Parts: sequence; C-alpha cells; structure tokens
Amino acid sequence: MTSEQPLVLLEHARKSFGGTPVLKDISLSVRRGEVVAVIGPSGGGKSTLLRCCTLLETLDGGRLAYGDLVVAEEDAAGRAVYAGKAALKEAKTRFGLVFQNFNLFPHYTVLKNVTDAPLHVQKRPKDEVMEHARALLAKMGLAGTEDKVPCELSGGMQQRVAIARALALDPDVLFFDEPTSALDPELTKDVLKVIRDLAAEHMTMVIVTHEMSFARDVADHIVFMDGGVIVEEGPAEQVINRPQHQRTRAFLAKYE
Ligand code: ADP
Ligand code: MG
Repeated sequence: MTSEQPLVLLEHARKSFGGTPVLKDISLSVRRGEVVAVIGPSGGGKSTLLRCCTLLETLDGGRLAYGDLVVAEEDAAGRAVYAGKAALKEAKTRFGLVFQNFNLFPHYTVLKNVTDAPLHVQKRPKDEVMEHARALLAKMGLAGTEDKVPCELSGGMQQRVAIARALALDPDVLFFDEPTSALDPELTKDVLKVIRDLAAEHMTMVIVTHEMSFARDVADHIVFMDGGVIVEEGPAEQVINRPQHQRTRAFLAKYE
C-alpha cells in the first residue's frame, strides 16, 4: 500500500492572478483511501488549489499527476506544461468535484442530474447507469426523490444529489470545496454523515472545510493553508489538537 503511487500528486504548484501569487509552491500527495482535509482562512488559496487539481484552473508552475497519468510537468524555465487533450480527458475521469453551491442542473430531475454524465459523457450502458444511480441515491438517503427537480429539495438534499452525481462517474478521488458552507446546521449534519460514510468505505477524498471537529474525526491528514502556502500539515489529531505554528493556533482559536 505505502509503495503505491499517490492517486493525486501535486508538486511545487504555483499560481498567480493578475501578478498576485495565490499558490506559492504547494505540494500535496493523496494516497488511495486517504482523506485529506484542507483548512485555513478565507482567501488563503484553498479553492484555487482544488480548482488547479481539477483542471478548472491551469497552474503557472509545478507538476500534477493522477497516478501514472501526468497532467502537467515543469519545463526548464519552471513553467507548467500541460499534457495533450487525450490525457487531460482521461484525467478528468479520475476525479469528482462537489462545490459549495451544489451546482445541479435546475431543470433536470434528480435522476437525470446523476445519470447525465455517465450516459452522455462516459457513454455507459443505460441499464447499468440507471441501476447505479438509483443505488447511489438510496445510499444518500434520497430514495423517492428521483423524479423531483432540485428546487423541490432542501439544500442538504441537493448537496447529497451533487455527491451522488460525482460518485456516479466512479472517480478515484472526490474533491469537496466547503460542501456544507451554504447549509444551516441541521442540513449540514446529513451531508457530513454521508461524507463520513464514504470515508468509512475508504473513498479517497480531499475536503476543504470549516467544520473543524468533522475534519479531525474524518481526515487522516490535515493541511492548514494561509496566504498561499501550507503553513502546517500532519495527522488530523495532531494539527487540530497540538498545532505547532502560531498561525494555525490563531486560526483554530476562532473555532473553539
Ligand atoms: P479560499 O478558497 O482559501 O478562500 P481562494 O483560492 O478562493 O481562497 O482565493 C485566494 C485568492 O485568490 C484570493 O485573494 C482571491 O481573491 C484570489 N482569486 C481567486 N480566484 C481568482 C480569480 N479567478 N481571479 C482573480 N483572483 C482570484
Ligand atoms: Mg474557497
């Protein structure tokens, strides 16, 4: 297991917006079955990190690989050079992404939200896709909602549909960007439970979250980001209960 290649390997990632560096030499490695939580103050670069990992943004410098599939490699001048179209398309089958605001298709039913990409992007057989989607929805506690449209569901249910949609593509790794920030506490609980269940099944996940006790319970590894750098990282219990850096302590103190 330990000798296995990481599922996600980001090395020396750099990214600026309009000349302002947002990621300054960030490295992140995620092994199969591992849950990594990314915490830190707003504006620290967490979403940009996830967006670079999921190819929604391009790196300026650094290297990104999904297993043996190299997505971006640094050239002699230190610039990130991306792989060709086919490799990028393949890379996009390796991960799923769940956003803060669910991002469901509002005019599609729940079932169509979950089955659309497996049917039309992955072109998998319809019977298999339907069966998988119904099973995933049941697992998310959403049996019976198949024919509803998103606005008929609570925010917590919509987010669970979004998780089912991401899982329907059978990704190696799921990225979450503050999956419960748009939800009130009662609905947050249901979404966190679903993520906890996935962790118990050893789903590989990278979760940006402000839920510190959740992060400590669920994550194997915690990364604390501030100002575009990883200030501190380590086993979840250590980073949350015994942070080494003053910036980490100051941040965590706000959650006590
Ligand atoms: P976090 O998710 O930790 O709050 P972000 O990655 O969203 O941090 O943002 C980090 C910094 O990058 C912020 O200063 C933000 O304003 C800036 N930023 C993020 N995305 C863009 C963009 N597309 N264009 C310009 N600046 C951006
Ligand atoms: Mg963010």
